[in-house]
Amino acid sequence: MSTNSVAIVFDIRKKNFYSLTSLIATIDGDTNLKALDQIITGDLSSNDIKSLLKKYTKLIIAYSFRTSQLEEIYTKMKTFYSSLSTDEIHRVTFIAGGSHPTGDPLTTLKFGFDFSFIGEAEYSLPFFLKSFLEKEDIYETPGITFLENEISLSSTSRPLPINLDDYPFLSKKRKLYPPLEITRGCGFACAFCQVPMLFKHRIRHRSPEIIIELVKWMVTEKLNDIRFITPNSFGYMSKSARSVNQEGIMHLLEGIRSIKGIRNIFYGTFPGEVRPETVSEELLTKIKPLITNRRISIGLQSGSNKVLREIRRGHTVEEAVSAIDILLASGFTPIVDIIVGLPGATEDDEEQTIQVIEDLVQKQAIIRAHVFMPLPGTALEDSIYQPIFPEIRKKLGRLSTIGKIEGNWNQQELYAKRAWEMIQDMQSVSPLSREDNH
Ligand code: SF4
Repeated sequence: MSTNSVAIVFDIRKKNFYSLTSLIATIDGDTNLKALDQIITGDLSSNDIKSLLKKYTKLIIAYSFRTSQLEEIYTKMKTFYSSLSTDEIHRVTFIAGGSHPTGDPLTTLKFGFDFSFIGEAEYSLPFFLKSFLEKEDIYETPGITFLENEISLSSTSRPLPINLDDYPFLSKKRKLYPPLEITRGCGFACAFCQVPMLFKHRIRHRSPEIIIELVKWMVTEKLNDIRFITPNSFGYMSKSARSVNQEGIMHLLEGIRSIKGIRNIFYGTFPGEVRPETVSEELLTKIKPLITNRRISIGLQSGSNKVLREIRRGHTVEEAVSAIDILLASGFTPIVDIIVGLPGATEDDEEQTIQVIEDLVQKQAIIRAHVFMPLPGTALEDSIYQPIFPEIRKKLGRLSTIGKIEGNWNQQELYAKRAWEMIQDMQSVSPLSREDNH
């Protein structure tokens, strides 16, 4: 046995290590959790768990996942439940967090997770782990859900949103370097998006000084490409959703650019696109000499004003196109996000979107197409999955073949359909239980 007899195992994927890195680094730095080993792995198997249980008396196995990963996670959990012995399965606690567990804790718990964390977990997870280690009441942890008597869903109230400056955003110890999260939370309420549900409408920014200091260290480690995570790059340091704090943005970018040895700064690109109303020629002129990228990602989502209203986007087609024109005139290539298959979008609405796409492509914009997936916890979570209209599919396919549309929308359509079907099916399925196979 290890000196520590309890370990937490994070089974991380390329897709989800962004959000987990802060948690992993927070646990590493928490002096209350010294008696806990932390294991970071990818694609954990039943045999891995069996081996770890020879070393530890108890394991906490943690997953963070999105709705598109439902099938993969359920398959994994069923394998664990069926292949671990009675003794082994009783020594493992399964926990989950992230966008799907936050929006749909019931399905998550039915997958066999013992606890599903709600929203950000930098405060609640260490609280839970400390209670676990000290054999205190883990059910007192804020921001968790669990099943009582395998049927009824119980939850505790969410903790207050954290101050980003108080928490790490990468893990030096474990060499996990996601893009730098500079802002969390969004003041908009797009009906398809899980960000407001995950973080409420509390916009929080990380201070430029803290980011600049970290980048200085990154450069010494030859981490010379700097990217950012934010719901809206041009909203950095602003107090409200629609306003722009040019001074704050310039403070950050000038500070980073002045670091000796800095190479590439990518700002306004994935995973930190920009909102149309925050685009201005003045801002673009100021930031252009400081940043490396000449592509900027911007959300349009639909070419129909009716659909934009229904999804509460907060801008019109014309406003978004005008922002795209400003990007083009300022020497940037706009990467324009579009969602097809949105609820309420008729074939005529989708035709309008194709028309706008064709106009934008003529202007040398690049389109990134996504397929609508009803995501739990959003205003559209109860929407029925609808396939893309055949004529629209044909037109998207043609644009895709000539390289005018990016994005794996064909695969997304499969994921969307399968995830939607699974959520429906899970309504009549009983939770995986430790007693079932033993
Ligand atoms: S899509 Fe963007 S702007 Fe809309 S709620 Fe989500 S993060 Fe905010």
